Amino acid sequence: MNLEIDRNRLLSEIEALASFSEAEPPVVTRIVFTPADLKARAWMKARCEEAGLTVRYDAIGNTFARWSGSNPSAPVVGTGSHIDAIPNAGKYDGVVGVLGGLEAIRALQRSGFRPKHSIALLIFTAEEPTRFGIGCLGSRLLSGTLSPDAARKLTDKTGATLDQIRTRAGFGGKLEAVKLPSSYYKAFAELHIEQGPLLECDHIPLGIVTKIAAPASLRVLIEGSGGHAGGVLMPDRHDALCAASELILAIESAARTSGAIDTVATVGICEVFPGAVNSIPSQVRLSVDIRDTDLNRRDAVMQALETAARAISAKRQVSIHTELLNADAPGDCAPIVSDALSQSCVKHGLTFRSMVSRAYHDSLFIGRIAPVAMLFIPCRNGYSHRPDEYAAPDDIVRGTLVLAETLAALAA
Ligand SMILES: [Zn+2]
Repeated sequence: MNLEIDRNRLLSEIEALASFSEAEPPVVTRIVFTPADLKARAWMKARCEEAGLTVRYDAIGNTFARWSGSNPSAPVVGTGSHIDAIPNAGKYDGVVGVLGGLEAIRALQRSGFRPKHSIALLIFTAEEPTRFGIGCLGSRLLSGTLSPDAARKLTDKTGATLDQIRTRAGFGGKLEAVKLPSSYYKAFAELHIEQGPLLECDHIPLGIVTKIAAPASLRVLIEGSGGHAGGVLMPDRHDALCAASELILAIESAARTSGAIDTVATVGICEVFPGAVNSIPSQVRLSVDIRDTDLNRRDAVMQALETAARAISAKRQVSIHTELLNADAPGDCAPIVSDALSQSCVKHGLTFRSMVSRAYHDSLFIGRIAPVAMLFIPCRNGYSHRPDEYAAPDDIVRGTLVLAETLAALAA
């Protein structure tokens, strides 16, 4: 089998997909079910059909593009990623796995390879949490990690429900039908940029992910009492922002002292009400994101947050209410897939390292119903989720080549 990646076509397709954006180039903003996302989906469908793939959508808009194998009833070998992008993002997050996956399939077709198991490209809906506040919406439903009832309660910031928005975007049908049986996939491999600096620092072109860190996110509402910044004296204050500050530092300290470098915690949103220079903050909303490769350590930070919240609430006489949005277990990658990836690297004389994914991906959830692994390529300075995100053409082509070889091995 002579595998050749069509480098120019792949790179020009990455540029073309980046043009579907709500922001001016080089910025990519592509929120799920907006006109830019729908145009990008239509363009992707046309590319998949050009390649002879059969395209279908499920009720949430997850897109399956299938190259039928000689045994069409055998479990599918899957690859894919997402094409939605957070505001002010770049061209490569998710896209490399989607267009690289498509090019891997085309390279296999050109080589004369005929799969026994069908090979299918999967474009996940809403990997990014921008619109509905929850990441990996499509893969959570595919894997049954999120129930259709819980999904129906999701709204965007205008108050429109998921059902209203998806129907308007042209995706009807029952959410109950989205979940895949655990026999559906033989294996699933996702190609992705690293979104961290390790491969670049070590000059290693490829990373094979063995474990995906466990994410948890919470919303915290702190209510104190407001008042005039001149009139209320310090002993009488119940300043919600001062309480929030203590809580933020307690969360940082819990992560720093967990005993492992893998523990990370971030307060990324702090909304202060009423937000006036001469008014004592009466209300603060925080978002908290905690991740670890070890579930117990991650949960210990969540416990520390609750303990600190109780203490701060008592000391400052403010109310602190925490709401858990999600707390997912870490995912272990499957040897059947990671071995196929490493053998493909060896076959093409490429060095690789095993690594942990600290960002979470759709593969974390597909891993609940299928053997998965991920293949990382370097990205410049580890930058991602920003317009200057960049992956070098050679790295994209290498990743696509190894992915193609891996899909062939798994689908033979
Ligand atoms: Zn991504």
